[in-house]
This record gives sequence, C-alpha cells and structure tokens, in this order.
Amino acid sequence: MKMDQRKYFRKKLLFWHKTINNRQLPWKGEKDVYRIWLSEIILQQTRAEQGLKYYERFLKKYPTIGKLANAPLEEVYKLWEGLGYYNRCRNLHATARKIVFELDGVFPQTFESILDLKGIGPYTAAAISSFAYDLPYAVVDGNVFRVLSRFFGISTPTDTVKGKREFQYLAQECLDIKKSSVYNQAIMDFGATVCKPDVPLCNSCLLKEKCVAFNEDIIDELPLKEKRTKLRSRWFVFYIIKQGNKFAIQKREEKDVWANLYQFPNTECKNEKEWQRQIKNNTSAWLNSNNLEIIYRSISARAFRQQLSHQTIFARAVLAETKTFGEKNLQWEWKTINEIRKLPFPKIINDLLKEETAELFMLNDATVKQNT
Ligand code: SF4
Repeated sequence: MKMDQRKYFRKKLLFWHKTINNRQLPWKGEKDVYRIWLSEIILQQTRAEQGLKYYERFLKKYPTIGKLANAPLEEVYKLWEGLGYYNRCRNLHATARKIVFELDGVFPQTFESILDLKGIGPYTAAAISSFAYDLPYAVVDGNVFRVLSRFFGISTPTDTVKGKREFQYLAQECLDIKKSSVYNQAIMDFGATVCKPDVPLCNSCLLKEKCVAFNEDIIDELPLKEKRTKLRSRWFVFYIIKQGNKFAIQKREEKDVWANLYQFPNTECKNEKEWQRQIKNNTSAWLNSNNLEIIYRSISARAFRQQLSHQTIFARAVLAETKTFGEKNLQWEWKTINEIRKLPFPKIINDLLKEETAELFMLNDATVKQNT
C-alpha cells in the first residue's frame, strides 16, 4: 500500500468533512469530558438516532458527573430502560462513583488511564482522548472497519486478532495527529452517511477515484468477517400474579440478558413446541406448585417478541389472581403497580404490562373462579 493513498484518503476525508458533512448531533464538537464520555457509552452498540433521546434524558437528570454518582443505581437503570446492554449502565454508574469518590471528581486525562475505567475499551478510550483532549488516537469501530476495508481493499476479517491489529495500525497511520478530534469525527460520520453498510453513496463519493472496492467492484464483499453471529431463540412464559393490589416480581440474575432488571416470575422452555405445550397444559399446575390459591387465570391472546442482537425472545403472559402470597417464593417481591413503574424492566415486560394488566385491574374480590 502506497503512502500516497493514505495521504489522499486523509486529505479527501477532511475536505469532505469541512465542505459537505452536515450531520448534526448534539455531542459533536463537545469538549466537556463528562458529556463526551456519556455519549460514547450510550453509543456503544446503539445507533446515534436511538441514543439521542437517552443522551438528552441523562443530561437533564444528571447534568454533572456528581449528580450521576450520587443517584441510586436502580434510578439510573430506569432511565436506561429500553436501551439494552445493561452492563453499560452498571459500568457508567460505577465509573461515575469512582471518579467522584476516588479521583476527586477529575476525569482521567491519558489514553491508558481512560482505558483503565470500567466499560471502556480501546475504541471508547480513543474517542474520549481525541474529542476531549486532542490526543492522537485513531478510533476503530464498525464504521471505520467498513470505510478502511473498502477504500484500501483489505479483505482480512475484521473479527480476527490479525484483522484488528492491521486495521488499528492503518487507522493510526491515516490519522491527522494534529487534528485527531476532527479526523475521528470525519471518518465516523463518513461511514454513517456515505460509505454506508448496504447502499453506499459511491457515485457522489469524493474518494471513489482511488477507492479499491469501487474500482474493482467488490463493495458488497467488504468488510469481511470470519464468524457469522449465531442467532438464538428463547421461549418464556411470564406469570403476572396479583394478590390484592400487589404483583409478584423478581430481580433477574447476573450473567444473562437483562441482568439486574426486574421481571415477573417465569419459566423458560427449551423450544417452541415445549412452550406451546406448557401454555396449553401446564400453567395451572405451575401456579398451584407455587402454593398460590388461584381465583382467576387467563392467558395473553398473543405472543410478545423482542429482538436482541443475538437472541430473539418470545413470551406469552399468564394473568392470575390469587388469595394468598404463596409460601415458598422468598425471591419474589410483592409490589403495587406504582412501585413497579419506578423499577427497571426489559422492554418485552413493559409491553406485557401495557397490554395485559388492565384486565387484572378490572378484577375484584368477587371475581368468579374461572379457567383455573
Ligand atoms: S467509493 Fe463507495 S465504497 Fe469507496 S469509499 Fe466511497 S462510498 Fe465507500
């Protein structure tokens, strides 16, 4: 690869950024490190358009890192609700607390010390270092992999150690070290708006003259990945159980999706067939096995679905009213709907709540025993 091509790439990219790029995002050009860090954590695994409202919501509630550090974790989770990848939220809160209570409120100012913080990998450390402090570190994310692999015609898979090293090296060589924040913003915006994944705007692209993928007609083949992400389906039955004006909920365990969020008691089935069978035959038995004295039971008319990055979740809800709290269920907490609304839940459970609980509220003590 000739150095000329790197120079051409840098020059054209910065020219495009200066004259054509009009992508508007509230964190662009930001120099406040708290705001930069917050936006970068929100944008990990999230499209800018989706992250925007969360960024604004967080800044409104926690305008300073001190406010975030002093907020209860559950409240922060609630604000994060719907954004997914909840580890980010837990790390955000832990890092805020570390900076405020252990580092006198001063955000680290070197690449290495930023990289040491929880929830921050090389990409985020490079973004914060360059945007906040103009340090010469090139960002490499999905957009950058795509732009570099197409323009320079590199077919090394981006998800291999070799590929990561090669692209990181190239990205660093292309970086304008005197304008690292401008350059990094330019390449990310270029990937998001011109060299897009499915329909890149090659015909109007300022870089097409020397773009290998364009000139060799291999745009659809790049970037390459070695492993395909395996998608997995999961099948749940959630039990929305009411006793008086309270509902049974429980906290989700660590090391699975939605760690630390709340949920209704549930069973997970091995496959769709078992799920259908359980809904048809076994929900009463499950309720009875939990020592609940059921006076009403019904099943949601439809299945609910939530798409996560590597999993598709399917759920049906069983609504039940009981005379007793049951005896065995120490891990269950009984909460009113107003208390529940303050707690963080996965999106699929909020969908269930919205659509199904009205039916339970219509019940009263005189409920006739049905379907049990
Ligand atoms: S010509 Fe097409 S593939 Fe090449 S950099 Fe421009 S948009 Fe990307």
